Formats: sequence, C-alpha cells, structure tokens
Amino acid sequence: MSLVLAIVNQKGGVGKTTTAVNLAASLAVAEKRCLLVDLDPQGNASSGVGIPRDEPGRATVYHALLGEADVRSALRSTEVTNLTVLPSDPDLVGAELELVLVDSREGRLRAALEPLRGDYDYILIDCPPSLGLLTINALVAADSVLVPLQCEYYALEGLGSLLRTIELIHGGLNRGLQLEGVVLTMFDARNNLARQVMQDVQKNLPGKVYDTVIPRNVRLSEAPSHGRPVILYDIESKGAQSYLALANEFLERHAATTPTATATRGAAAGQRGQR
Ligand code: ATP
Ligand code: MG
Repeated sequence: MSLVLAIVNQKGGVGKTTTAVNLAASLAVAEKRCLLVDLDPQGNASSGVGIPRDEPGRATVYHALLGEADVRSALRSTEVTNLTVLPSDPDLVGAELELVLVDSREGRLRAALEPLRGDYDYILIDCPPSLGLLTINALVAADSVLVPLQCEYYALEGLGSLLRTIELIHGGLNRGLQLEGVVLTMFDARNNLARQVMQDVQKNLPGKVYDTVIPRNVRLSEAPSHGRPVILYDIESKGAQSYLALANEFLERHAATTPTATATRGAAAGQRGQR
C-alpha cells in the first residue's frame, strides 16, 4: 500500500511545489514507485515535470475528482523512471465551488486515489496555497502531511493555523492523519532571523523538523523552466543534493531502504547540466 503524503502550507511561494517535484523525483531514483498529484490549478508541479499546464481534451485530476474520468486515464509518465504524474487542470479553479454541490465533497480525492494505492510506494500531493476544499481533499486522502516552511517572520503564525487544521481533520474526517514533519526551505544560515525561526520550530515540534535543510539555490528555480526536476537538470547542484538527502532522510524515518549510490549515479548519467 502506498503512503500518501500531502505537501501543505497555506502560505504562497514557500517551496511546496519545488519540494513535491524534487522529493518525488529523488524517491523515484531510489527506485520507489512515485505518483505526483498536482492539486493546484496553477499546475506548476505538472509543468515542472514536463507536462503542459493546459492541454484541451485530456483527462486530469479535475475529472478524477468530479468522477468524470477514470483516474488511470489521467496518469502521465515522466522523464524520470518510476515517476508518474496526475496532472492539474486550469478548471480546478472552479472545482472548489463545483465540489460544494456533490456528495462527500471532502473525500473525493481519497476515493479517486484508492484504486492506485497498490501501484505506488509513495503518492505525493502538491497543494494550492490555501486551506480550501482542494487542500481539505488532500488532507482527507493523506496518511501524513509534510510542511515546507520558509524561515521568515510570520512563518510560525501560519504554521499554528495549519496545525490546528490538521488536528481538526484528524479529529473528524481522517483519523489516520499524521504530521510527517516540517522541511525548512530556501534556508540562509547567515540570516539571524532564519536561524531563530528554525530554533523556534524545533522547540515547538520536537523531532518533527527534518535535519536536512533546503538552501536557496538558483538551480532549483531554473529547473522548472526546463520542465525537469533538478536531478535531471543539474544533479551536482546544492539544490539537487539537498533533495536527494531529504529523500534519504525521509526513507530512513520510514525505515525503508535508502537511495543507493547506483540509483543516484544512474540519474546523473548523461544528464549533467551547468551548475
Ligand atoms: P505556491 O504557493 O504559489 O504554490 P509554492 O509554495 O509551491 O508556491 P514554489 O513554487 O515551490 O512554492 O517556490 C516559489 C518560488 O521559489 C519558485 O519560483 C521556485 O522556483 C523558487 N524556489 C523554491 N525553492 C527554492 C530554493 N530552495 N532555492 C531557490 N529558489 C527556490
Ligand atoms: Mg506550488
């Protein structure tokens, strides 16, 4: 059975999509079968793995959510072996309203993903920057929540309301929901405020903050414009190495096999870009 991981933070631009794409790709090169679900109408996770945001007539996560298409017909393979994507759709913008009218509206994604849970080791859901019905669907479908956090002044405040939402869902719609952890993104160790926020989060959530920290790295911001996860764009970059390390830590925390040097070398072969 898959582990379903929702990547959530209602704050915009904190590294959710970058984490979803690159953690999924790094787990895939560690020979884990991964499905990346793009639940954000912006479609950045889809385009980040080379699938155009908008292709008229294709089935997407939108159709799977509304029961208009079989989820399997919407799946797309990517350039990374073991990484499949369930693409986004610009129509997802309207899905929050359309879902209000359907039965069990919070459980639609869970039901759509159910038949796929035997096919993948990990299903990662990239969420939009809100705690609306799409994100609620992700939290109901998920086994655990990974929170990318940018260490800045209001970060802890936002984290508080997110944790309360997770507790609410855990208390009602999804008793199995756990907090996987917090991953610090775009981290700058020279910045005093960033170090202070890091210490505060570690104090408030002991054991939940990943040791692996994602630094600010220009390769991570360039890779999406090439439609590739950073491991296929520049595997030697600090960004690629930090997401491979995050995948390793994730697998260690789940007591699974860690990515092998062979798998990492395999991803590197012939795919070196400039750093
Ligand atoms: P949204 O809330 O809009 O969905 P998000 O939380 O998914 O945003 P991203 O899209 O992953 O955030 O990142 C926001 C911007 O910052 C993007 O341009 C991305 O390329 C860039 N970025 C993310 N992480 C890093 C990093 N570690 N180093 C440099 N740039 C980064
Ligand atoms: Mg995003």
